[in-house]
Amino acid sequence: RVRTRYAPSPTGHLHIGGARTALFSYLHARHHGGDFIVRIEDTDTERNVPGADEKQMTMLKWLGIRWDESVDIGGPYGPYRCLERMGFYNRYIEQLLQEGKAYLSYSTQEEREKERQEQLARGEVPKYSGWDRELTAEQRARFEAEGRVPSVRFRVPEGKTIVIEDEIRGTVKFDSDGIGDFVIRRPDGRPTYNFAVVVDDALMKITHVLRGEEHLSNTPKQIMVYEALGFKPPVFAHIPLILNSEGKKMSKRDETIIQFIDQYKELGYLPEAIVNFLALLGWAPEGEEEMFTQQELINLFTLDRVSKAPAVFDAGKLKWMNGQYIKKAPLERIVELAIPYLEKAGRIQTPLAEEQKDWVTRLVALYQEQLEYIAQIVELTDLFFQTEVRYSDQVKEILREEQVPAVLEAFSRQVEQQKSFEPDDIKQMFKRVQKDTGYRGKKLFMPVRAAVTGVDHGPDLRESLALIGRDQVLKRLRAAID
Ligand code: GLU
Repeated sequence: RVRTRYAPSPTGHLHIGGARTALFSYLHARHHGGDFIVRIEDTDTERNVPGADEKQMTMLKWLGIRWDESVDIGGPYGPYRCLERMGFYNRYIEQLLQEGKAYLSYSTQEEREKERQEQLARGEVPKYSGWDRELTAEQRARFEAEGRVPSVRFRVPEGKTIVIEDEIRGTVKFDSDGIGDFVIRRPDGRPTYNFAVVVDDALMKITHVLRGEEHLSNTPKQIMVYEALGFKPPVFAHIPLILNSEGKKMSKRDETIIQFIDQYKELGYLPEAIVNFLALLGWAPEGEEEMFTQQELINLFTLDRVSKAPAVFDAGKLKWMNGQYIKKAPLERIVELAIPYLEKAGRIQTPLAEEQKDWVTRLVALYQEQLEYIAQIVELTDLFFQTEVRYSDQVKEILREEQVPAVLEAFSRQVEQQKSFEPDDIKQMFKRVQKDTGYRGKKLFMPVRAAVTGVDHGPDLRESLALIGRDQVLKRLRAAID
């Protein structure tokens, strides 16, 4: 049975890259009818941010990613939070110590730094020399008496080639001689990532490890630990890096790109659009099609179609794709999503009376085609809430055209004479103004649009006027005529 996992460290918000790793792992599991597990890797306690795990999981859920085992729902291989798994780590560390595959290491920070400097001075690539691999009982006692607290180091076998058969990268070889003995348990007792991840993946019966390519250099260490513990390594699939539009690796600190899923949620991106977009970051099915539901992604997703080449994060494409999803979504859903933005901007107040709800629904309908993300509704609909219209230079220009006074006055008269102000009524008004003034087409509509909306383009004019409302339209026409 295929079992995959997403193993975030709870150090912050759910990032584009993490979400993609989670998604690929999830899709791979579901494609094979297997299980998807979320495990919280919290042993790097200095970096932990309280609540980050829960927030990340909330975002995964929002994206529609469902897990079969995790901290919230438990499962047969728990606990799913590493700090609660200390018993397992200690047991296997004891085993390695007893078998001589790991040792207590007493080196101090200064000693390690000195060694490193010496190696650099000799032109060597620094690595831990393992000088304290074989300490005598007396040496150990002396170090202890000095107050040194040992870490546990993994004894890296010499002269071995470590081969990774990566599902995406192919065969990747590492020379064990390039790898120094590495810490598997810190002096304070916490395991390091490279050790804990092996114990966890093995005990949780993970069959496929999908993770970012930045972890590839960790994998040989982990494979050595698998071998030392007598566990069978899983299949590895290192998914390509995500680069920014300049071709550089995305940095979480780069504030020019929106990188966290909650930020997209806040802007009113739809989860299925984000999922669709993330799926295509380094993966593509055969053919030209780009729009996929989650079920289609599950059906189509295979590792052999994941690219080795880095993926480029194109925020414009995400925005475009989101617009496509908004267009296709039922209007009621977009209205429900839009209401909080309008309310927050002070435009409306909930609960909405039925009439108001109808009005807001029509308003949102007017812009559904155009919205790229829901937050845009506030700016786009600004002119429906203003009491005074501000004209751009371009609009001022339009309003100076010679036919304008005649058109605006004739149109005002029509509005004054009518009570009902629905699009059909407005259509009739324009017809009569056309008859009275002889102007038609752009010469007829543009002055009204410009005078009432303050801009020279926009959605359907009759519906816009109807929504602005008779009194407000009249007021604005008069202001423009003066
Ligand atoms: N906690 C690691 C990370 O957040 C997981 C790496 C792995 O999947 O093995 O990058």
